[in-house]
Amino acid sequence: MTTPDHAGLIAEAITEHWGERCPDYAGDCPTCQAWEQFDDLRSLLESNAALERDEARAIRSAYDDLLRAHSILQSQHREQQERANENSRRAEAAEAERDRLAERVAELERELEMWREVKHSSHWKARAEAADARVKELEAEAARRALEAQGGGDGE
Ligand SMILES: [Zn+2]
Repeated sequence: MTTPDHAGLIAEAITEHWGERCPDYAGDCPTCQAWEQFDDLRSLLESNAALERDEARAIRSAYDDLLRAHSILQSQHREQQERANENSRRAEAAEAERDRLAERVAELERELEMWREVKHSSHWKARAEAADARVKELEAEAARRALEAQGGGDGE
């Protein structure tokens, strides 16, 4: 992009000092020599510019490759991190579930122990005996009424 401007300025200067390009080239003509040097210089500038463009393209494509590789690595890293997070979440959930179950087992064991104690306690025995006695009482009452009903002459 700098090449055409430079070449244009140089061409202007040559035109001012040596005049317009001659229609036919002559080796001993200073104007022709000036324009010949200008042509050499311009082709040199153009080939430099082309080299720079190629170099810039190569650098840009290498940079693009680098960016691509970087973004691939980044997304792989993110995936690994997400997997690690997911695994630790699962491990935490499993641990919490295990703790909860252990607590429930302990709770059931306490309950079972309580029932064992209740079963063997004198209080429980007393209540069981009282219930037993009440059942016998009711049975006796029922038998008495049955006898009374038969004695009264009214069949059921
Ligand atoms: Zn000439």
